[in-house]
Amino acid sequence: MSDSSVLLSNIPGVLHGFGDKENLLPAHLQAYEATRPEKKQVHGTRIVDVVQPGQDCGEADGFITSTPGILLAVFTADCLPVIFCRKDGKEIAAIHAGWRGLIDGILEKMAERINESGDTADWFAAIGPAAGSCCYEVSQELVDDFLQRLDLPSSLISPHHRHLDLAAIAEAKLQALGFADIDHSGRCTICTAAESDGGYKYTSFRRNSHQRAIDPTHQGISGRNQQSGIMILCP
Ligand SMILES: [Zn+2]
Repeated sequence: MSDSSVLLSNIPGVLHGFGDKENLLPAHLQAYEATRPEKKQVHGTRIVDVVQPGQDCGEADGFITSTPGILLAVFTADCLPVIFCRKDGKEIAAIHAGWRGLIDGILEKMAERINESGDTADWFAAIGPAAGSCCYEVSQELVDDFLQRLDLPSSLISPHHRHLDLAAIAEAKLQALGFADIDHSGRCTICTAAESDGGYKYTSFRRNSHQRAIDPTHQGISGRNQQSGIMILCP
């Protein structure tokens, strides 16, 4: 089973889900894949207004639309997907945020865009599967950079020595930006086991890199990233 958000599941007329290794795009979204905007994710902070299916968005990591029938979906493999929905189901958004996007302010950019035509207080946000604080070890320099640039407690940013908690950082930012409610709908992409086959549930860039360091013939993750998506159904 793919992950889903309890918050977003209660909104009528909207489909959403977080993919995993078994279903890179959740099964109930696959029929709409051709409507997904074309884009190159670059760990940036650019948000695009999507108005037509398959729109060419260029380099972008955030998407927003009020048009029904367009699947907004982002690819991830340890980075953090966040999908958004206005409480009335009439407008949706999605972002891809790794540590760079988080520190450079993609969540703030999305909130800014939402507040141009509405109010974050009318929106829910759902945080999907990403590298968890259990496994996401980084350099001390990067932890220090986060501590210096973000006004958040160090125990929240880095709950263990040289580990970052991307989901907790995102949740604290989303709260500060005034979103109505936020949930964590996914688990750690590095260590979560699959329900069935004794392998892992998610595609993980970090885990794959370790495997390739040991065995250079091990396949890369290209084309195997999971997708997190949301779409307003056509009336
Ligand atoms: Zn983990």
